[in-house]
Amino acid sequence: MTQSYRDVVAAAKREVREIEPDDLERRLDELIVLDIREADEFEQGAIPGAVFAPRGLLESSVATHIRTPDQEIVLYCAAGARSALAAKTLQDMGYSNVWSLEGGFTRWKRDGLPWKTPDSLSSDQRARYSRHILLPEVGEAGQVGLLESKVLLIGAGGLGSPAAIYLAAAGIGTIGIVDFDVVDVSNLQRQVLHNLDRLGQSKVESARETLTALNPDVKVEPHDVRLSADNVLDILSGYDVIVDGGDNFPTRYLVNDASLHLRKPVVHGSIFRFEGQISVFDPYEGPCYRCQYPEPPPPELAPSCAEAGVLGVLPGIIGSIQAVEAIKLILGIGETLVGRLLTYDALAQEFIDLRIRRDPECPACRDESMPPRIVEYDATCAYPGAVARI
Ligand SMILES: [Zn+2]
Repeated sequence: MTQSYRDVVAAAKREVREIEPDDLERRLDELIVLDIREADEFEQGAIPGAVFAPRGLLESSVATHIRTPDQEIVLYCAAGARSALAAKTLQDMGYSNVWSLEGGFTRWKRDGLPWKTPDSLSSDQRARYSRHILLPEVGEAGQVGLLESKVLLIGAGGLGSPAAIYLAAAGIGTIGIVDFDVVDVSNLQRQVLHNLDRLGQSKVESARETLTALNPDVKVEPHDVRLSADNVLDILSGYDVIVDGGDNFPTRYLVNDASLHLRKPVVHGSIFRFEGQISVFDPYEGPCYRCQYPEPPPPELAPSCAEAGVLGVLPGIIGSIQAVEAIKLILGIGETLVGRLLTYDALAQEFIDLRIRRDPECPACRDESMPPRIVEYDATCAYPGAVARI
């Protein structure tokens, strides 16, 4: 003897708990709400904060949404039948605090409770970013977050090239690039944003052409200027994360000091001959650049790539790691390089992960209420001192 759908739903409802729309609304911040409807239903409107977890994938995807079996979960569908059946299934899987929303989304709307149209991806974007969406740590919501994020690259050179290309491919929605240089043939050994057709062209324009050809979702904001005390706060303030691939000390110190004012994380990278290093300087959460290097070395001990040479592939490795760190910061996943200095030696083929600490006496970050004065640095980057603070 078979049971009708109505009988099955009625049986499930006897075994699961239902929550009233009003009660759910009051507890929206504490509960995990899973929308188990189909994608087209979800896109037309959903309960704020609800996670899209379509019924067909619920059993396989539930563990990515819920950390512990006793976490409180509410499932909802259009009218409360599918969610009752799904809640029964989750109970049978061992989840002990599952509710089904009484009357589903239809009743939620009829009761005049708030709902919104979720930010979602177009079908082209779903195809482009499908390998991201498959990762539970990214998913569709994470990809939307990447598309809404803004990353500023300091330099469109050796480090900026791979970082920009991978960030654009990953769907960072806005990429700003600061560089006032033009493309030279000696750049092409490592600066893969540029090519022979662009010789003499500004690097930011060349970068814009490469990145928009790769991914039209990306808005490239060129800053064809030398970063200075006059413009650094303005330029950095428009971005969520700064990726510093600058090749000189004055810029590095300027970016560090401005980031402390603006409380923006800086993903630092530098290269020299066969060696590179990466760290994340998250203002007041970990050390800043000056905690490590209060003053730069004298110019004769700090030759640039132009003077000292650099292996061509090396910035590809360091810049790519910078891109990874930027994406982790935006998505809020993983262990970042805050408080760590990762060094790479290409000849030894060796990474070393060093712990670094915030210096309580750091001239730049020791006092949150007094970020360092933004000044124009000469090649010595000497700290201007407390008297000159603003
Ligand atoms: Zn510091």
